[in-house]
Amino acid sequence: MSNAQYEVTIGLEVHVQLSTKSKIWCSCAVKTMAQVNSTVCPVCLAMPGSLPVLNRAVVEKAVLASLALNFQLNYQSFFDRKNYFYPDLPKGYQITQFFTPIAEKGFLELELEEGEKKKISLERLQIEEDTGKSQHASTGSLINLNRAGTPLIEIVSAPEIKSAQEAALYFKTLCDTLTFLGVTEGNLQEGNLRCDANVSLAEVGSKKLGTRREIKNLNSFRNVEKAIESEIKLQTEILSQGGKVKQQTLGFDANTLTIKVLREKGESSDYRYFPEPDVLPILLTEDDVSALKKKMVELPSEKRERYKSDFELSQYDASVLTQSKELALYFEEVMSLYKGKAKNAANWIMVELLRFLNEANCSPKNSPISPANLAELLLLIDSKVISGKMAKDVFEKMYDEKKSAKALVDELGLSQITSEEAIGKLIDEVIQKSPQQLSDYRNGKDRLFGFFVGQVMKLSQGKANPDLVNKILKEKL
Ligand SMILES: [Zn+2]
Repeated sequence: MSNAQYEVTIGLEVHVQLSTKSKIWCSCAVKTMAQVNSTVCPVCLAMPGSLPVLNRAVVEKAVLASLALNFQLNYQSFFDRKNYFYPDLPKGYQITQFFTPIAEKGFLELELEEGEKKKISLERLQIEEDTGKSQHASTGSLINLNRAGTPLIEIVSAPEIKSAQEAALYFKTLCDTLTFLGVTEGNLQEGNLRCDANVSLAEVGSKKLGTRREIKNLNSFRNVEKAIESEIKLQTEILSQGGKVKQQTLGFDANTLTIKVLREKGESSDYRYFPEPDVLPILLTEDDVSALKKKMVELPSEKRERYKSDFELSQYDASVLTQSKELALYFEEVMSLYKGKAKNAANWIMVELLRFLNEANCSPKNSPISPANLAELLLLIDSKVISGKMAKDVFEKMYDEKKSAKALVDELGLSQITSEEAIGKLIDEVIQKSPQQLSDYRNGKDRLFGFFVGQVMKLSQGKANPDLVNKILKEKL
């Protein structure tokens, strides 16, 4: 048993399904959930004589992703064949970019704790095709080729990630960035982003990285974190007992949180990569790139900075509001109509709206309360037509009945009483009914002030503006 301390090094390879309408080499629709083997054609079935033609939209999305991730573009890039046999790969090879990918040398910035940032270097971004899917049943294995030829980009990080938590944060930041950018739907349940994690341990102070093992196909932030945690434990055990880590490819069982060895890892030379003869190189021009730069949108990290500076929101609020593109757009639309204090809008969205939406598993885009209706409610509160307390009831009804705030306030007769004359009359009535309390108050029983406020509020059925009630009561008593 050795007591050595180990330093963890992690590199991630993330496969991202691009949100194009059609596949990369043919005009079949990208609909992996469609009826089994329904979105296929001679090209994606690899029939003899069929030839691939590159989908322009794939290149555009790959360039957009490269720009957002601070990559250097290769204005000339090529496709290569990666040869291997598997039943879900009818051609017997995958078309990918091996020798010269479309982009190299980028970086992704992670937001660690409050304000602290860490840059992770990215080695390459390449375009490739996805394979079909095997489905294993007790009676045998079945192949669904709907996914064959779906466009992917693969993004390879440098081995600069230092913990399981950091790896999960990297995966999430990458997912958010590319989803906001619109290059992927970002749907993790459907496998739109899949991550392979290379993990190695070396003794602290050692200049050489340890032997790495690769965990394949992690498809959620949690699984990335849990799988790497398990793997670090395993490698620590092996090394501290004097053993050697072998280069292997691993699978992760998310139910039992266990790692299993899938196969001994091959070398890249085993794939006999060679230039793809059926697809032309990708040639980018300065004009192409500057046209795409105009399509760049504000990324989540940029939004957070702007929310903090322009709207004076905290880091926490800015993070919650940018947790999805839809929520950020919802907030921004409310603010474009409301123009009041952003903190008010943020609170209503984060506390009330999200609670209702999460309960109903509803996305902000389909919220029964539209941004315009929420803005109207906020304006009614600011102009004191209704109190904050009434607003909560109105909000619930807006959610259930999909009506506007104004319509509900009228319908329910909820308008706050803000006329000094009307409140004065209510106070007169209360004073008249309570001669004993009045004389006690005037003889020094100050605490009875609350009694009068309560009576006036009760008489007004809660509609009198409390500030005005206090002010006028003080004058009259
Ligand atoms: Zn096809």
